[in-house]
Amino acid sequence: MRFYYSIIAIVLIVLAFSCNSSRIIKFPKKVDTKDKPIVFQDKGVEFVSDIGIYISNDFASARLNKVSVKNDSTLLLKIHPENEPINNSAYFAFKTWGDYSKAIYFHFEYPKGYEHRYIPKYQIGDEAWQEADSLMFSMKDSIAILKFNVSKDTALIAAQELRTTKEVKDWYTALSQKNNAVTKLKIIGKTHLGRDIPMMDIYSGSKSKKDIIVLLTRQHPPEVTGYLAFQSFLETVLESGTLTDTFLEKYRVLAFPLMNPDGVDLGHWRHNAGGVDLNRDWSKYRQPEVYAVTNQIEQIVKEEGVKVLLGLDFHSTWHDVFYTNVERENTNLPSFVSDWFTQLEANIPNYKVNEKSANSTRPVSKGWFLKRFNAVGITYEIGDETPRDFITLKGKISAHEMMRLLTNNN
Ligand SMILES: [Zn+2]
Repeated sequence: MRFYYSIIAIVLIVLAFSCNSSRIIKFPKKVDTKDKPIVFQDKGVEFVSDIGIYISNDFASARLNKVSVKNDSTLLLKIHPENEPINNSAYFAFKTWGDYSKAIYFHFEYPKGYEHRYIPKYQIGDEAWQEADSLMFSMKDSIAILKFNVSKDTALIAAQELRTTKEVKDWYTALSQKNNAVTKLKIIGKTHLGRDIPMMDIYSGSKSKKDIIVLLTRQHPPEVTGYLAFQSFLETVLESGTLTDTFLEKYRVLAFPLMNPDGVDLGHWRHNAGGVDLNRDWSKYRQPEVYAVTNQIEQIVKEEGVKVLLGLDFHSTWHDVFYTNVERENTNLPSFVSDWFTQLEANIPNYKVNEKSANSTRPVSKGWFLKRFNAVGITYEIGDETPRDFITLKGKISAHEMMRLLTNNN
């Protein structure tokens, strides 16, 4: 009998250690985040002989599924999502060039039920990205039309300026090296397709007794403007002189600069390679990206016996907005949200905070930070077309004021 008890004990111990250390967090509305199949694009370069131009989706973050000719100056671009159902966020990206200069009309076509979302941006050669102006881009009878002068110089045309896995990696690697006295770069897991999930672990001196601030972005691949704010925010956290020194002596920042690298490089509208919206998986952690991030946070909290105070998740939508939780008083930073917003309005010229407050009903990161750690969870949303210099300013001031509030108050 004793033998059997020993076997049972061993089985239980093995089970306990093989389970995710992240606790299941319940939300009122359940979302099924098991893997669902995605459709990969056929990649290649096509010479459209009727018109005399080349068109390509053979690069990271491309999205273009099919090209057909309407007439000698008009091309129909068919753009499909990675799988369905999916949020209405029609992302596209392709390259085009020709032997001669020619004005081409590109018509964007989506499956039934989806609409055009983004004003096209373009980059010619290595020049800076530009936004198509109203002479180039228009909506006619709900069809989005881009008039573009195709020439010998390759033009990259996309929903947003591209920030591929390689570009993001170049940025966070350089930033980590430049600030290596306080930054450790770690790979905390792998995606479905084997890409790295990175984390920057940021603190000064000893890591003991430092409560935690979490920053994350790119759960949703096309949400580049949220990523631009994240970049400015994190650069400010690392490079604000004595304020940074004081802040990082007291707090530890866990920054996740690229949560969905598969989705980013596959040119996805929203999901990861498991065909799932990662920002609905913060309950059971079925997807490797959410599993890796939550598991890291849990492990550090357990090892150091510290609190998570604040989680900021950077996204993009139609316009700038902060999604907050209604619950404030019983969080680890009861007055943070109102104090921070007051400071943003005081320090950003002609700016009024747009806040929408609601308890998360579905398993999103904002609700997870609150339910799991009593932390302040905020979805930091930037508009798709918010001017890029304003995004940088807002990222900078919001980081600065967060550090000021957290170092003054305690
Ligand atoms: Zn999003």
